Amino acid sequence: MNDLKKEFIFQKVNKLKGVGLQLSKYLKNKKIDQIKDIVLNLPYSETDRSQICKLDKLEIGKIQTVKIKVKKLNFPRIRNLPNRILCEDDTGKIDIVYFNSREGYLKKIFPLNKWIIVSGRVNYFRNKYQITNPDYVTSVENQSYVAKNIPKYNLTKGINEKKYRIICEQAINNLPKIRDWLSDQFIKSNRMIGWNEAISRLHNSDDSKNNQSHSFRRLVFDEICANFITLSKNRKRIKRKKIVKSFKKINSRRIIKNLPFELTNGQKNALEEINNDIKSNERMFRIIQGDVGSGKTIVSLLSIANVIESKYQCALMGPTEILAKQHFTTANKFFKNTDIRIGFLSGKTEFKERKLILDKLENGKIDLLVGTHALFQKNIKFKKLGYVIIDEQHKFGVKQRSDLALKGGDNCDVLLMSATPIPRTMMMSMYGDMDISRIKEKPSLRKKINTLSKPENKIDELWPYLKKQISIANQIFWVCPLIEQSRFLDYSSAKKKFDIINKIFPGNVGLIHGSVEKEQKEEILKRFLEKKISILVSTTVIEVGIDFPNANVIIIENANKFGLSQLHQLRGRVGRGDKQATCILLFKENSLSKNAIKRIKILKQSNDGFFIAEEDLKLRGFGDLTGYQQSGLKNFRFADPLLHKDLFNLAEKFILQVDKDLNEDKYNFLLKLFDKAEIINVKDY
Ligand code: ADP
Ligand code: MG
Repeated sequence: MNDLKKEFIFQKVNKLKGVGLQLSKYLKNKKIDQIKDIVLNLPYSETDRSQICKLDKLEIGKIQTVKIKVKKLNFPRIRNLPNRILCEDDTGKIDIVYFNSREGYLKKIFPLNKWIIVSGRVNYFRNKYQITNPDYVTSVENQSYVAKNIPKYNLTKGINEKKYRIICEQAINNLPKIRDWLSDQFIKSNRMIGWNEAISRLHNSDDSKNNQSHSFRRLVFDEICANFITLSKNRKRIKRKKIVKSFKKINSRRIIKNLPFELTNGQKNALEEINNDIKSNERMFRIIQGDVGSGKTIVSLLSIANVIESKYQCALMGPTEILAKQHFTTANKFFKNTDIRIGFLSGKTEFKERKLILDKLENGKIDLLVGTHALFQKNIKFKKLGYVIIDEQHKFGVKQRSDLALKGGDNCDVLLMSATPIPRTMMMSMYGDMDISRIKEKPSLRKKINTLSKPENKIDELWPYLKKQISIANQIFWVCPLIEQSRFLDYSSAKKKFDIINKIFPGNVGLIHGSVEKEQKEEILKRFLEKKISILVSTTVIEVGIDFPNANVIIIENANKFGLSQLHQLRGRVGRGDKQATCILLFKENSLSKNAIKRIKILKQSNDGFFIAEEDLKLRGFGDLTGYQQSGLKNFRFADPLLHKDLFNLAEKFILQVDKDLNEDKYNFLLKLFDKAEIINVKDY
């Protein structure tokens, strides 16, 4: 195969005839930069221009194609009057009308007394049919180019159908035959079709509108494979050889002995898996998945103690200041009777303090550094970093977590902790590059959270209930939803609620929302933690991971605004101590969609995050996306984990089979096609 030809698909669109600077710019706005982007921009519908319509049969308002004879060209000399070309066929008359068109050009495309083909939207003006600024004007010899079903693409302003068609057809028709990365045998035995054939069909038939057509499924399979291959390569890159860390669990054993509780089996297993990874000669790249409250923190701290015993430093990162602070406090508590030295660093650490910490870090006088993203700034140097733990990592994409993993250096193990249970089908596409430890059960003392729902107009019934809770020293979260992405509205709704509740329970209520300053926020959270106030009104700005063991009631307003997983996460803020916890979902009557009702029902029925994640995915299929926040699902443009479940499974098997050949060029082609090459630094193909 000719190398130049092979490159065609990855060239910039301006390599196509008719694409100049201006058009390139327009296309780029539509994320069409390379020729392959045109290839993957599938038609969403088509325009039927196939019938040549006699003038007495025209329908007003429709796009139609006519064959007409040019009788007269009218170029009025008065400004603002359009140019008008009078035409006819044997059944009637029609005017073709142009605003702002040059005379010379019109004379050329409308030769007097010649038959021509015109296609466009028909309207009626002063007792006469007319087509204004037609989409196509062409000679009769060229009829077949216009009189047919023409695919419709999502276009940006400034590119009309005719123009886009010219470049799209250039791209599709000149597409070199690729060496398919699927073998003929695989294609046959799985009832697939070849790549070139699939692309051609997708642009020239109804296939692109049917997500189960053979050609669409082929593209879906390719997309899933590109995703899996990326993860597999990423895994190989991270899981390199490292120097073995050795320890005898002296500190971790002592900490376990002094714990006020027994570790669950899930915690023990996860810890064992992590310890084995740390001791092995391959770098660890592992994620602990465990529902809110399943006790991931203590597992990570115990493994940290082991790494420190092997004379390496550790870094523990939380997504926010507050959560990182809580980890710092927890670490200090559990490491109290050890000689482990702990430091804290965030973007807000004062200059002097920061300098001191960086100094100690570089001289090996800090064993564990807890903090926020600030831990990974360039000028932060560890003496001997051996282990990085990142909490609540589901906010990172593949590229980000891989960058973080590699930043630690050659001997650094990496552990992620996530409280977002992932449905089985999504597991591989989200975490295929990592080893996975799942903590399924919760500490046995925990009781099921009682979940109730209530219409908002019965809110007054809540006050006696809350009074009683407060009288027995319980604490309450009150969650107001973010009305919009507006700090002001978010503030005003939470503030209103605060005023109401504070009237009923004066001085016993705190308020936190998006615009509360950091110090003030910390102060309020502290007061809540120290039980100086009983009710905390907040928007969703309170991080899910924060641990308030004494809070056992959560009230979620406008519950229908939240997705299933999100509600489950919010609910998980309570029920962390040993008291019975209650979650009350408030909703406006009449505003509940069918799916919102289903969500509430599922929440009442189950406390199992993994089950809820599966149900969430199923519900998503019904198209109710309000409040849905599972970031990984956005990874796919064509594939849908519900509709193409079989292809996800097939791809999983396929990748296992070809895993050792993944460096072959043909797979690089695939990765570049789906913009994955950058993630894993594939050299130019
Ligand atoms: P998450 O997995 O959501 O991060 P945490 O690590 O914050 O959960 O733990 C939640 C709470 O449960 C903490 O107060 C922790 O001390 C407690 N906890 C952890 N493990 C156990 C256990 N095995 N038995 C009882 N309580 C536990
Ligand atoms: Mg946590």
